[in-house]
Amino acid sequence: MKAERKTEKKNLPESFVDLRSEMAVIARGEERILRFDGEGRLFLAQEGGFSFRRGFDGRIRKRPRAVRFRERTSKAQWLDGHQAEDFLVRSHETALRSLEEALRGDLPFLKNTAAEEAVEWKKRIASWTPRRYADSASEFRRLYGSIPVLPPDQYYAVYLQVVFGCSYNRCSFCTLYADRSFRVRTMEEWRRHLEEVKRFFGRGLFLRRSYFLGDANGLAMEQEEILTRLAMARESLPALRDGFHAFHDTFSGKERTAEEYKALRNAGLRRIYIGVESGCDELRRRMAKPGSAEAVRRRVLLAKKGGLAVGLMILLGIGGEEFSDRHVEETRNLLDSLSLSKEDIVFLSPLFVGEREEVLPGVPAPPSLERVIRREEKCFRDSLSGPRISRYDVEQFVY
Ligand code: SF4
Repeated sequence: MKAERKTEKKNLPESFVDLRSEMAVIARGEERILRFDGEGRLFLAQEGGFSFRRGFDGRIRKRPRAVRFRERTSKAQWLDGHQAEDFLVRSHETALRSLEEALRGDLPFLKNTAAEEAVEWKKRIASWTPRRYADSASEFRRLYGSIPVLPPDQYYAVYLQVVFGCSYNRCSFCTLYADRSFRVRTMEEWRRHLEEVKRFFGRGLFLRRSYFLGDANGLAMEQEEILTRLAMARESLPALRDGFHAFHDTFSGKERTAEEYKALRNAGLRRIYIGVESGCDELRRRMAKPGSAEAVRRRVLLAKKGGLAVGLMILLGIGGEEFSDRHVEETRNLLDSLSLSKEDIVFLSPLFVGEREEVLPGVPAPPSLERVIRREEKCFRDSLSGPRISRYDVEQFVY
């Protein structure tokens, strides 16, 4: 299969227009590739050795393409307002010129394309002026506030904010939801949110494969309530291939039974994501993470028994040099006890010390932190078999 894909890629012309039902791809040589969603808004581009990802909030992240995924930490930059606008204008000009050339027969369409289809795409792409992008970014902020993070396999999920913030909000390393108070959207707010999300994404929905229930614990309500909300979402929105996903915690609310997780699975939920951080209880206590490694184990086993897959986030470097060996060993013991398989994912997330420059409260980040992170990552990658393993760079996230 891989070999076939390679051959296909080799046979592609260097410049082309590819109009699909879910997106338009415009390639001008290998060095310039633009991707627009079904509404005609730019979401991804490659240019001169860099990839550019535009977030709905208007920010554009620039990252070298040649950097291997595992080495991406600190390599991203963000375009400033002028650069971002200039980039969008140039990208749209290139796309519109390319579509005209393709309509004249001077540039190949990748597959048979009716002229009306290309004209329709031209209209959609042309409608995204800098003004419209700015209005859309304001609408995004009104709709969600901000979306500070998603697991890497869910970057293209449609975010459904069923809950605001985190019910706990006090882990020492986390400021993700510091700007908002925790509460569950009322049923009426949820109904309106679903309509607004549908309108906001428009035809861009079909580029997406799943829905993600945010914020920090999308299941933080009674079982019947979440089942009702999932039913409302299924009624209001088109079905997406990979169903629903959610962050979940191991300390709030009543513990669900395997049957209850199964009912969530039957309602469309596919994977839950848990911030485990560490299997070492002493370290968890020092970072003010509520609950224990045993509580994580119980919840994961119940969820898996109910047919859900899990994504488990592990923090790298959180204990500095002092706790590193115990952190790796006790976390590995925990992960080994969970019978993880290839539908499960372990996310390795390097600690971002930011301005605090502390790994734990009162413990300054050691100069060797980068080395500790690399060593811990290698230990986990070398010793874990069963689940998929992925790097998780929270500070480079853009939705
Ligand atoms: S439970 Fe999760 S979201 Fe809440 S403060 Fe801790 S790490 Fe952050």
